[in-house]
Amino acid sequence: MQKILIANRGEIALRIVRACKELGIESVAVYSEADEQSLHVQLADGAICIGPGRSSESYLRPERIIAAAEIANVDGIHPGYGFLSEDPDFAEQVESCGIKFIGPNSDVIRKMGDKAVARQIAAEAGVPTVPGSTGPVADDKEAAKIAHEIGYPVIIKAVSGGGGKGMRLVHSASAISREFAAASMEALKSFGNGAVYVEKFIEKPRHIEFQILADEHGNIVHLGERDCSVQRRHQKVIEESPSPFLTPELRKEMGDAAVAVARHCGYRNAGTVEFLVDAYGKFYFIEMNARIQVEHPVTETVTGIDLVAAQLRIASGERLGFAQEDVQQRCHAIECRVCAEDPERNFAPCPGEIGLYYTPGGPGVRVDSHAYSGYTVPQYYDSMIGKVIVSGATRQEAIERMNRALSEYLIGGIRCNIPFTRAVLMDPVFVEGKATTHFIEEFMARNAAPNRQG
Ligand code: ADP
Repeated sequence: MQKILIANRGEIALRIVRACKELGIESVAVYSEADEQSLHVQLADGAICIGPGRSSESYLRPERIIAAAEIANVDGIHPGYGFLSEDPDFAEQVESCGIKFIGPNSDVIRKMGDKAVARQIAAEAGVPTVPGSTGPVADDKEAAKIAHEIGYPVIIKAVSGGGGKGMRLVHSASAISREFAAASMEALKSFGNGAVYVEKFIEKPRHIEFQILADEHGNIVHLGERDCSVQRRHQKVIEESPSPFLTPELRKEMGDAAVAVARHCGYRNAGTVEFLVDAYGKFYFIEMNARIQVEHPVTETVTGIDLVAAQLRIASGERLGFAQEDVQQRCHAIECRVCAEDPERNFAPCPGEIGLYYTPGGPGVRVDSHAYSGYTVPQYYDSMIGKVIVSGATRQEAIERMNRALSEYLIGGIRCNIPFTRAVLMDPVFVEGKATTHFIEEFMARNAAPNRQG
């Protein structure tokens, strides 16, 4: 591959530009009118405007992106994460134009994008899934029947869901009809598909996912886990590796399970197999993400493997060039997402112009961000403006380093979540490595109480 188009924006577009430069691949950015000043546009070798700020008129328009790719005459398209990255129709259109889609093929994206189908594939591969329906449930009566069999509480999830949206927790039979209707309607509105399925609600689990890489010659390895239990409204806030919860035995068992899922669905390129793990170490497949993820630098830091470069090499037909036993967890890494949002106003997005801007540095610190002094955070997109990733010889060292790094990060002019994240990092539950997916909720309740009294 000599020239690729990046069908994304912000920090991930910049990350891909950087990988291209190091591999001697020419990069072409696409951008909306609201992103003209973004660093990904300035640092790419070429850039093509694809429409107005709203993503429905730019980054979510396959025909505009493919037209740009044809004008630029590229060999491949890297979709990044979000936007069209897991849209099988987009991948199929790219393939049919004779352009390489840098990811799995469209059939695999279609299969794994339907979470009910993905559950069946995992089960066929011999991997445990959360007890629940075998496919989408037809109506509230069927949902009630399954919930009765597996026992309450249950969670109703959209088969096309993503980004933590379209999930409804149901505690008792009296609420199932109402929640079924609400979940299907929400799913239809958010994802254009109202189909939902039912799963047992796992109490206080950890979210532990495995990064996999698969080449086009049948070689598949996993690159260890990321513990993403620190979530707010089912969205990740802090990610780390290794997980403080996993033993070497459980890591091997889950890693083998992740590879088995990838092999069974014919996966190619980089992907992530997500699991919930209960307090007893029992693990359940929940979904597979058929793309690069926000938190990929955690794995890069721990293993020393450049995942975006690997994606580009795999898409060029190269072999992985290393085996499972070559993958080592060399240190501890933590990532914090930095978002333009105001924790004091229920995390409302805070777009606007950044004044003073200073990023942290020093040993073991990486910042992936497209922001700079004078950059305006547009109102149209996700509020994430960057990520800080640190490494440490131990988990404790990584936590201290992250705290130090975040204390140096200055973002003037707009509100951001750094003070909130620092408070989370210092919380004893997190420091002791005991956070489950309920941690942030509990943390906020604990910290709100004195304020209410005062
Ligand atoms: P999405 O695709 O929207 O990210 P996931 O299926 O990956 O949805 O789930 C996101 C998060 O929601 C999980 O990390 C977990 O915190 C919570 N969750 C999902 N399914 C369950 C379940 N069956 N029991 C408990 N929590 C769950």
